[in-house]
Amino acid sequence: MAGEPQADCLFCKIVAGEVPATVVRETETAVAFRDINPQAPTHVLVIPRAHYPDAATLAAAEPEMAAELLLLAGEIAADEKVDGTGYRVVFNTGAGAGQTVFHAHAHLLGGRGLEWPPG
Ligand code: C5P
Repeated sequence: MAGEPQADCLFCKIVAGEVPATVVRETETAVAFRDINPQAPTHVLVIPRAHYPDAATLAAAEPEMAAELLLLAGEIAADEKVDGTGYRVVFNTGAGAGQTVFHAHAHLLGGRGLEWPPG
């Protein structure tokens, strides 16, 4: 069923506490944790507890949950004090765009200059 945990999904295992992560924020519907391979001084992943393979699928099925990821990313940016200098929220979607974990997640990146266009 849509949104149900998937046995072979790494981020479902983090949500379930079966794989360790440095959690910075938790709500009823979302979890935020530090990326294990940070690409910036602040690199936090914000994920829904429910399993959807990517952001578009999540937004189509549960738009409020998708919106909550953006809200949380902004709050965490303020907690991390990167809101003043600017930060980026990225949803890699599809292998060609660099998505490696097929459980929807927002990357919150900040704390250094971020070039545009991204690589
Ligand atoms: O957008 P993409 O699917 O590539 O992002 C997955 C992210 O999950 C990577 O940045 C990777 O470093 C991170 N990751 C993690 N903890 C794990 C496995 C992957 O933070 N245990």
